[in-house]
Amino acid sequence: MSNRDVKRIANHLSLSPQVFKEKFIRVDEDGDNVIDGAPCPFLLDDNRCSIYEVRPAACRQYPHTGGKQFFEHLNLHRKNINHCPALFEIINLLEKQ
Ligand code: SF4
Repeated sequence: MSNRDVKRIANHLSLSPQVFKEKFIRVDEDGDNVIDGAPCPFLLDDNRCSIYEVRPAACRQYPHTGGKQFFEHLNLHRKNINHCPALFEIINLLEKQ
């Protein structure tokens, strides 16, 4: 999650970026800021996102299949294909060509 994401979401939640990070962000094994928790703490019981209008860029771009992004995320696709039916369909269609 970028600093821009942090500022936008923190502002939406009326939190300072620092407090938002303390409550919702952890640093992953690659050194990236990621939302802490699975399922995501912003996921509502009806599967909607409680911060949809200000969600992180990575959530907006998921499953990262648009344009050049597709080839930049091949390792991620390998993991996500088991979780994302849309990605599964896209890979299946590509394999048929
Ligand atoms: S879109 Fe992103 S922020 Fe929203 S619930 Fe899903 S993972 Fe969480």
